[in-house]
Amino acid sequence: MLTAAPVRSLYRKIPYAPLVPSGKQKEAALSGGRAWAEINLDHLRHNAEELQRIAPSATRIMAVVKANAYGHGSNEIAEELSRAGIGHFAVAEIGEGISLRKHGIRGEILILGYTSPGLAPELARYQLTQTLVNREYGEALEAFGISINIHVKIDTGMNRLGEPYQDMKSIRDCYRFPHLRVTGIFSHLSMSDSQGETAREFTQEQMRRFDEVIRKLKAAEINPGRTHIQSSYGILNYPGAGYDLVRPGIALYGLLSHEGDQVQAQADLRPVLTLRAKVTQVKEVEAHHPVGYGLNFVPSHDIRIATVSIGYADGIPRSLSEHGGYVLIRGQRASMIGSICMDQLTVDVTSIDGVRQGDTVTLIGQDGEETLTACQIAERCGTVSNEILSRLGSRVERTFQNE
Ligand SMILES: *Cc1c(COP(=O)(O)O)cnc(C)c1O
Repeated sequence: MLTAAPVRSLYRKIPYAPLVPSGKQKEAALSGGRAWAEINLDHLRHNAEELQRIAPSATRIMAVVKANAYGHGSNEIAEELSRAGIGHFAVAEIGEGISLRKHGIRGEILILGYTSPGLAPELARYQLTQTLVNREYGEALEAFGISINIHVKIDTGMNRLGEPYQDMKSIRDCYRFPHLRVTGIFSHLSMSDSQGETAREFTQEQMRRFDEVIRKLKAAEINPGRTHIQSSYGILNYPGAGYDLVRPGIALYGLLSHEGDQVQAQADLRPVLTLRAKVTQVKEVEAHHPVGYGLNFVPSHDIRIATVSIGYADGIPRSLSEHGGYVLIRGQRASMIGSICMDQLTVDVTSIDGVRQGDTVTLIGQDGEETLTACQIAERCGTVSNEILSRLGSRVERTFQNE
């Protein structure tokens, strides 16, 4: 079901459209533009509640809204989560944090990555919390003499960012910079998605190392600040862990990274994003006549094909058509054929009755009885749903639906 939201957003782009659309115009406006994503904010709130239910009651959610909230639209997602009572957000870089502040998002916004120390005035101006990637970085930031909130990052075994957990002296030093106010300490789990024995042991060891750092800080009468180590799989596989914050990303958007992954906690996650486009032309192709670039597809019998208004620049992986990719039209599956182009792709609609120019095409989401998930696309292309969603292009218009 589509709400009136797409109508409003479309009209901003069409200066002379009538205020109240009628007949065919209304139909066109309601079915969106070339390629669009319908963002179900009810599902978003539901997923946040599920994660909060699974986590210990004193634990708070820090919503990860980096990469345009995994392609969902970071401003609107953060705004909705704020309204639902979430007061902590995480982004990857300073630009994302500034954009949220300009949109009026309050509460804590943690930058998970490195920020050039020269941007210290911006960190302070927008009241962003910076990750202290290690002590050396703290020195560079402190040199600007500007008061900034920070979370100290501890490397407990992933070997990406963070002060190594063994270096207690350096870790204590991170709490002693006059201008850097430590409000949190965190680490990241590298194997929490697997329930295998080795992975569980490694994860528990990472948590033990993190706990040890916290214990030693407290023993030195240092307040560690808010503690956090779990992202989506960390929450779902270690639900009882009991740190101050949890950092869900993909699970907030209603998905696991891989379909079929087994997790410890029972969570009813509902996909937030539906991706759609349109049939722009239908045509009969005779046997042995190629379709698309490079003679990649030559049918052995007569077929009917539909051209669809979405392509790899919109985030559909170009390799999908070679790996059995399909779309939904009129509630039925239509296989991708030929090479996916930058803005268009072609599908086989021989066995689907009545396909017409202007029909809605579903690439992710439900159409009738059929459902296609970002996980299924990811599986076919050898990646994770996180990558498929976060790479949805800027041309894909986001429309937001709320009951
Ligand atoms: C991206 C990210 C997350 C969220 O990860 P998901 O697996 O999507 O839940 C959490 N913490 C850090 C440090 C991240 O970079």
